Amino acid sequence: MTKYLAKIGLEMHCEISKTKSKVFSSAKNDFSDTPNTSVRPLDMGFPGTLPVVNKEAVRLALMASMILHSKQPEYIWFERKNYYYPDLPKGYQITQDTNPIPVGIGGYVEYECHGEMKKVRVTNIHLEEDSASLDHYDTTSTINYNRSGVPLLELVTEPDFHSGEEAMAFLEHMRSVYQYAGISDADTKKGQVRCDVNVSIMDASLDESNPENWGTKVEMKNVNSFGGVRDAINYEIERQIELKENGTYDEMPQQTRRWDEETYSTIYMRSKVDALDYKYFVEPNIPKYKLTKEWLEEIRASIPKLAMERKQEYIENYHLSEYDAGVLIKEKSVSDYFEECVRLGIEAKVAANWVTVNVVGECNKLEIPIDEFYITPEYLKQIMDGMKEGLISSKQAKEIFYKSCEEKKEPKIFMNKENAQISDRDELLKLITTILDENPSQIEQYKSGKTNLFDYFVGQVMKNTRGKANPVITKELLTEELNKR
Ligand code: ADP
Ligand code: MG
Repeated sequence: MTKYLAKIGLEMHCEISKTKSKVFSSAKNDFSDTPNTSVRPLDMGFPGTLPVVNKEAVRLALMASMILHSKQPEYIWFERKNYYYPDLPKGYQITQDTNPIPVGIGGYVEYECHGEMKKVRVTNIHLEEDSASLDHYDTTSTINYNRSGVPLLELVTEPDFHSGEEAMAFLEHMRSVYQYAGISDADTKKGQVRCDVNVSIMDASLDESNPENWGTKVEMKNVNSFGGVRDAINYEIERQIELKENGTYDEMPQQTRRWDEETYSTIYMRSKVDALDYKYFVEPNIPKYKLTKEWLEEIRASIPKLAMERKQEYIENYHLSEYDAGVLIKEKSVSDYFEECVRLGIEAKVAANWVTVNVVGECNKLEIPIDEFYITPEYLKQIMDGMKEGLISSKQAKEIFYKSCEEKKEPKIFMNKENAQISDRDELLKLITTILDENPSQIEQYKSGKTNLFDYFVGQVMKNTRGKANPVITKELLTEELNKR
C-alpha cells in the first residue's frame, strides 16, 4: 500500500440512550420494550401531530459537540429530509444536515491507534430522529415503532482515516466518550451504533490535502459492528487497488455497496447517480430558538470526566501502572466499579489488582457485564477487611471470592471463627514446639546444611492446622525455634 493512500470518512450514528423520552414526542426512549409499546401518535406520523423538542436530548447533543471541539450554533433549529420508506411513516426525517444548522460544526477528535495518537477532523455533528425498525421474515415483514423518534447523533468526519484499524480505533474511542459523558450506552449489540463508511484511494505521491487528488468514494451503509467496519474498509481498499492495477479505477462510478458478513466482501447495490434528492427545507413546525450563553456554559461545566482524564488520575493519584489504568478505563462500568471500591476504603493498588485480575477475569469467564457480577464492591470490601483483620490469608481471600461467587452467598459467611486464619502466636508456638520435638532427626539434617527442610516444617504446621496457620508468623516462629535448638 505504499503506492496508494486510502482516504476514509465515517458517518457514525449513535442513539442518545440516556434521555427518558424521545426527541420530539413524550414516548419512552426504551427500544428494548415489547414491540410497539413506546409509541405516541407522532412517532407513527399521524396527521395533526406536532413535534416538541426534548431539551435533554439537545443538552446532550450540545455536550457531544463541545467534547468534539465543534462550534455550537447560535440557534437550535431543524430541517426536513424528505424520502419515503416503510420505517419512516411521516415521509421525512427531522434532521440538521445542512450548515449552519448542526449542533456542532467543525472540530476534531484525538484518539489512540496501536499506541500512536491520531487526529481526525469533524465535519459536523447533528441531532436527528431514528427511524422505526423493520424485521424481515420468509413471507412477511414486521415494523416496530419503538425506535421511531429515538434521539440520534450523527457524527460526520472528514476523510482523514487511512486504514480500517484507524477507523475502528476511532469508533471505540467515540463509544467510550459517549459512555463516559453519560450520553449513551453506545451498545452495538442493541444496534445503538451504526456506521456508514466512505472509502477511496489515491496515488500516494500526490498532495493529500487537495481534494482534487482524491479518488472516487465508495459508500457502505449501516455496517453495524466495529470489526465489520474495519474489515469492510480493508476489503474495499484491496478491491480498489486491484481496479487501479488493471486500469479500470477511473471508470468506477460513485456507488453504494453493502458489507456482507457471510461472504466477507462488499457487494454493489446502486450507483450514486440515482441518489435521491431529499429536497431539504427548514422544519416549519419547530420554532428556531436562541441558545443562551448561560446554558452553554452550564453544559460545558457539567461535562463528566472522560476515560483519559480518569486514567491520568489513576496514574498520578493512585500510582497505578499505565497498563492497569488502561485496563480499568477501557469500559466505563469497570472504571465505576473500581472507583466504588476505592470510595469504600479499599486501598487503590489493592483494588486495581483485584478488579483487573479477579473481577474482570471472572466476568469474562461468566460472560456477564460487571454490573451484574455477584461480588459487588461492598462484598469485595468484606473480603479485604477479612484479610486486614487477619481473619483470612490472601490465599483464603481468593478462595472465598470464588466460593461466594459460585454459591451466591455473602463473603462474610465464609469468614467465621471456624475458618479463620490462626495468627495467635502462643497457639502456633505450642504447635511448632510439638512438631520439632517429634522430628529430632530432621532438625539434625537441617542443622547440618539441608536448609530446604525448613519448608518441611512449615508444611507440617500447615497440615496440622488444615492450612489455616498464618504463614508469616509461622515462618518467623519456626526460624526462632530452630535457632534455639
Ligand atoms: P454525500 O454527499 O455523498 O453524503 P459527503 O461529501 O457529505 O458525501 O461526505 C460524506 C462522507 O464521505 C464524509 O464522511 C466524508 O469525509 C467522506 N468522503 C468524502 N469524499 C471522500 C473521498 N473521496 N474518499 C473517502 N471518503 C470521502
Ligand atoms: Mg443523517
